[in-house]
Formats: sequence, structure tokens, C-alpha cells
Amino acid sequence: MLIDDLRAGLADLDSRALRRRRRSLETQCSPRAVIDGRPMLAFCSNDYLGLASEPLLAEALAEGARLWGSGSGASALVSGHYAVVDELEQALAAFCGTERALAFGTGYLANLGILPAFSGRGDEIFADRLNHASLVDAALLARATLTRYPHCDLDRLEHALAHSTARRKLIVSDAVFSMDGDIAPLPALLELAERHDAWLVVDDAHGFGVLGPGGRGSVAHFGLSSWRLIYMGTLGKAAGVAGAFVAGNADVIEWLMQKARSYVFTTAPPPALSHALLCSLRLIKDGTSRRNHLQALIATLTGHLDLQRWHLLSSRTPIQPIVIGDNQRTLDVAARLQQESIWVPAIRPPTVPVGSARLRISLTAAHTHEDVLRLTDTLNGLAP
Ligand SMILES: *Cc1c(COP(=O)(O)O)cnc(C)c1O
Repeated sequence: MLIDDLRAGLADLDSRALRRRRRSLETQCSPRAVIDGRPMLAFCSNDYLGLASEPLLAEALAEGARLWGSGSGASALVSGHYAVVDELEQALAAFCGTERALAFGTGYLANLGILPAFSGRGDEIFADRLNHASLVDAALLARATLTRYPHCDLDRLEHALAHSTARRKLIVSDAVFSMDGDIAPLPALLELAERHDAWLVVDDAHGFGVLGPGGRGSVAHFGLSSWRLIYMGTLGKAAGVAGAFVAGNADVIEWLMQKARSYVFTTAPPPALSHALLCSLRLIKDGTSRRNHLQALIATLTGHLDLQRWHLLSSRTPIQPIVIGDNQRTLDVAARLQQESIWVPAIRPPTVPVGSARLRISLTAAHTHEDVLRLTDTLNGLAP
């Protein structure tokens, strides 16, 4: 029976400590979460600036709904596109210093749209081995040859590019790696793209709002600009709402709008979200003190954690992972933190490579120094 296969599969997940479960939060997204009536200090979210529960933004969302209603009614190219979305796209393009931007429903959808729009059979996609799953799925959907290079290994990438006979080449990389927190060498990637006449697709899900002047993201952090740079930023993480956008050269974005199937064949997001996102963009621009506080929290974490005992990956971003290795041991440490009412997610394969299970600590501007010290003191004091 088909269902017996599923049951065996689920039992197999259990036996390998890989079954995931959801927790139902009874509070807004915040470091101070309540689950089953119990308060927990959370280090889990990608709400890096603490905007997801910012009252001004919630008010903007409510106002957006009053102005624009609840739904868009159709896909964008039929009748689901609104003036407020134009306004958001123009604001995003201006913010990123590009000619044009196109808003998508989510980052996952944006990635699924980009890769097949710029590559197909006979083309080659060069992807960092630690890229987000959505980029791997997008490459499969594109039907191009997928060549994955070792994490940030520019020599191997260059070698692969030099030996490629593909007509169109796409280099694809996370800007900030979501489970490691390190920053991709974007200037070197762009140089390789130029030398080998390739596109460079940058997924800045974790850099937009956090890195660069005014939170303009990883590309601005490095001061890069090029028509061959296709920039994807998400709006559900630091921006605190939902959605994503792709920014770049006007012709590149026009092509994307014509060809991205995940743009064309889906109902456009509620225009109310664009109204809220315009407010979010202003909060990001004015968010220097939030970003400074975040950097200070990172320093508190790295300064107080016992680094002899815990293998903290080197990261300058709010993603601060402690690699433990074994799945069960990682779950055990997470469970002991949980007994102390501290919630840090245990990340296991297939999200990270086998044997590199980890605690993924993520800091947000809504944390206090006391919160971070409570985490480091608890970790340092855990019996081995
Ligand atoms: C979260 C994430 C995405 C997907 O974005 P959503 O808006 O959540 O769909 C894409 N790429 C990376 C690197 C991410 O971390």
C-alpha cells in the first residue's frame, strides 16, 4: 500500500533524529516568545531588525488593507498589479541604486523565476555548494547543467568556468550564507563573471536591511554595480513583512517580468503588503541604531561564549552558528537550553551537510545584551 511507504519513511526520519515539528507561538515574532503558555527567550528568527512586531509597521499594514483591500484579484500581468506596487518597486530600485526592481510573492518564488528566465537546456549554472535550497530547486527547474563548486572556492569556480562550453553561464550565490553566516566574496565573483561573460545572481535574503550603508545590502556593502548583476532581496526577514524583489538593469528586469513563470502564473500578493513595505523601507533606511545595536550584540556573544568548548563559526552577521556535528547531540543541547527556557533551533541535514548539525543562533535588534549573556552563560555552564 502506498501509505505504508509513507509510514516507513516517517519512522525512518524518527530513527535518524530527522523528524521536524512545528511549535505554535502564542505571541508576535519577538525574542520573548510564549509557547504552550511558557515564556521562552528565542534566538531563532530572521527578523534581524526587530521589525516584524514593530507597531508602526503593523499600523501601516492595517492602513494598507484599508486603502487597498485584502487581495490583488489576479496575476500581475492580467489585472493584479497596483500603483502602490509601482511605488514600492521604484523605491526599492532607488534604494539599491539600480534602474529597476520587480516585486515577487516570496524569495523562493523569485529564485524559481530567475534561474529559468536566464538559463535553459545547454546552459550552465555555477552554484556555491552551500546555496539555499530554493536556488538548487530553481536550477533543476531551469534544466541547465548544474555545477556546484565547493563553498566560496574561487579557484574551483574559475576552473569550471574556463572549461565550460555552455553558451550562457550563470554564477549563483547566497550573499550571506543562511546556515553559516559568512559573506560571499562578491567582488571576486563579479570579476569572474566579467572575465567569463557570465551573469551573477546574488541572493541577499540575509543581507538586505542588515549590511551596507543604510541597510542597502551586500552588494552596496561592497559598492558593486553592473548590468550583469541580478540582485534578489527578500522582504520577510529583516524587512519584517513578506515578499521579495529582484533589482538590476532595466532590460534585465523587463526580461524577467516577461519570462519568470513564478511571476506570471501566480496571483499577485495583496497590494496592502506594498503599502506596509514602503513603511518598512523607511524604517530600514533610518535603522542605523538598530544595526549598530545588532553589531554590539554580536560582539557580546563572541566575547562571552567559551570558544574552547563551543565551535562557533566565524561570522560578522547576526547568524552565529555553533557546529556540533551529530544530529542527536545537537538536539540534546537544544533540549537542555529549552529546559532553561532558551530556544535555539537545531539545524540538521538536509538543511546543512551531513555531519555538520548545528545550533543556529540568530540575533536581532530586539535582543538585549542581557538576553545574549543569558544565552552564553547557560551554554558555558551546561554539563559536558
Ligand atoms: C529565506 C531564504 C530564501 C527564501 O525567501 P522567502 O521569502 O522566505 O521565500 C531564499 N534564499 C535564502 C538564502 C533564504 O535564506
